[in-house]
Amino acid sequence: MNLRHVPFHRPSIGQEEIDEVTSTLKSGWLTTGPRTAQFEREFREYLGVPNALAVNSCTAALHLALSALHIGPGAEVITTPLTFCASVNVILHAGATPVLADVLADGNIDPESVASLITERTRAILPVHLAGLPVDMNAIWSLARRHRLLVIEDCAHAVGAHYRGWPIGAGNPASGDYSDAAAFSFYATKNLTTGEGGMVTTHREDLAERMKILCLHGISKDAWNRYSDKGNWYYEVLVPGFKYNLSDLQSAIGIHQLRKLEAFTETRARYAALYNQLLANSPEFELAPDKADCRHAWHLYMLRLRLDKLDINRAEFISLLRERGVGTSVHFIPIPLHPFFAPHLQDGRNQTPAALALYPRLVSLPLFPAMSEEDVVYVAGAVKEIARETRKAKVFAVSGGQLK
Ligand SMILES: *Cc1c(COP(=O)(O)O)cnc(C)c1O
Repeated sequence: MNLRHVPFHRPSIGQEEIDEVTSTLKSGWLTTGPRTAQFEREFREYLGVPNALAVNSCTAALHLALSALHIGPGAEVITTPLTFCASVNVILHAGATPVLADVLADGNIDPESVASLITERTRAILPVHLAGLPVDMNAIWSLARRHRLLVIEDCAHAVGAHYRGWPIGAGNPASGDYSDAAAFSFYATKNLTTGEGGMVTTHREDLAERMKILCLHGISKDAWNRYSDKGNWYYEVLVPGFKYNLSDLQSAIGIHQLRKLEAFTETRARYAALYNQLLANSPEFELAPDKADCRHAWHLYMLRLRLDKLDINRAEFISLLRERGVGTSVHFIPIPLHPFFAPHLQDGRNQTPAALALYPRLVSLPLFPAMSEEDVVYVAGAVKEIARETRKAKVFAVSGGQLK
């Protein structure tokens, strides 16, 4: 094979984003202002939700939602072990207790495991749409209804995904099921990027209002309007809030990324289908999972190694890909394996055997719209070449019929 370099990710930034940032710089208004208002409006329209608040990360979006929902000390929040640390860190920042449910074969949170962990202290479920594949939200909403729980969706991977015909974050208007909040990430590697950034959406007006106040120091805009006779310098701080606002410089990028999102998503789906096709007949791998009733956002192509059929482990597989010029990543090191979580493993819960068994088999291949079809073919070729060179030798039955 001729060596090619395919990085794990490269963002798709066009002239439109560059021009908008330049205009923003020249406009004299750099922080949260008209472009952020426009980005929020267009994001609301894209999802079909009444409220969207732009923030400086998905981590901020999740923390803001938990805080505004008064989830704090004494409360338990059930989430998944197969996620980025931020999903769990924010629960701890809020002063609440994270409880880990196990995952299904597709890597998403297992609703039955969630059900088995609900106690009188449980306040919320925080599902993560891993790789952009929607969680079985009907099962989550049904649990939430039955046990009066809040639902906060971590949609960091899932902008552009659909659950049963509706955009992720929009709930299911047909059945009247809604999560309380949905948090999106616009981090550099995500499907829509502003470099760093995020968005939190909600159908609840009360929650939208509280998040808006908490997002910017706890300053009330109402007080601003009410006492405008005092001059436009006047404001009141109602609660000690956070500093989570998104700047116009970042929103300038987001406005154009959002307009390209449908095209990005289509390209991702096409490349994922090509990986599936090229790797379908390799028994050394299981393909990245998909679901018929959803639109996958294909943030990640998470290949699963059949370690029983290979003579190498995942680390060796990754370095052999690197030797062939292919960048990869692993999503994710399960939460229970991180030192910060060690104290939480002592209470008997947070045992997640399925997630821990899946983890050593996971390798995320390059999947981004700025790569070419030839790149996808090259990566799949490299993957298959490694499999050919490292597959376990077949052991045939020897006399006596014993199979070794
Ligand atoms: C990236 C990511 C986050 C955090 O997003 P930021 O915008 O970087 O704060 C949260 N959850 C998951 C699953 C992620 O992948």
